[in-house]
Amino acid sequence: MSERKAERGAVTVIVLAAMVAVLGLGAIVIDGGLLYHEQAKLQTAVDAVALAGAQALPLGHVAARNAAESVALNNGLSLDELQLGVDAAGAAVTASAARQVALGLARILDHHQATVGARAEARLSGLTGLQGVAPLGVIWQNFVFGQLYDIKMGAGSGGGGNYGALALGGTGSANYRENLRSGYPGWLHVGDTVLTEPGNMSGPTKQAIDERLAACRDGCTFTRHTADCPRIMLVAVIPGLPNGRGEVTILGFAAFFVEGVTGQGNDNFIRGRFIQLRARGESGGTPSFGLATIRLTR
Ligand SMILES: [Zn+2]
Repeated sequence: MSERKAERGAVTVIVLAAMVAVLGLGAIVIDGGLLYHEQAKLQTAVDAVALAGAQALPLGHVAARNAAESVALNNGLSLDELQLGVDAAGAAVTASAARQVALGLARILDHHQATVGARAEARLSGLTGLQGVAPLGVIWQNFVFGQLYDIKMGAGSGGGGNYGALALGGTGSANYRENLRSGYPGWLHVGDTVLTEPGNMSGPTKQAIDERLAACRDGCTFTRHTADCPRIMLVAVIPGLPNGRGEVTILGFAAFFVEGVTGQGNDNFIRGRFIQLRARGESGGTPSFGLATIRLTR
């Protein structure tokens, strides 16, 4: 081999190596972008799946799974790709998915496909603090979704002159009416002690509830309503009613869809259907009384 030929051979090797390097770099840029895009798409989908599942958790294990799977299909995830974990006791839903992505430029270097994966966990937490609560205390019981309850009692069902009204941020029927109309603007927490507001207060009750009913302009029902519908009332859940003006401890919070206010004088009561709701507030612990917040982690 002549010196010239050996030199040419070395140059060829260098050029080839450079080409491979350039192709490799191109593959990293182009296929990397493709993989990044596919991973982001997958993450968005599993986030939505986990959130939908957690949101349906209060309705049970099967409802959570069905809700999650239906959102998966709507987000282009096949049920073969999806791994779903529904932990009803732990109030969490995990969703993960893996997908093979066909590569472009990297194929030249014999890399034909790569796997992208994504995982999300949505956890329901109980509500420990809330703003905008109606000045009503409903006595603790096993609330059933959609069932009609007296959220303010009428004659014969109250106790010791109390009908379920609470004195929040002050006493008197004018303060009660304002809180019933718009919700108490301060914060209430689980474990707080508040005073009852004795008396039936049928006039202020009817005025405030009629205003709430009139302010709903979307034809809402207890199964289909806007998130901020004025017919939704957040109330305190309490252990029982004392005699006269007395202290009660807040056990938790519940949401009701107001169906109406009926009765005159001492026989005035508010009726509402128990609903499950995601409320904005402070959270921690396990969900109770159908009011919860959802936290998404990956
Ligand atoms: Zn409404």
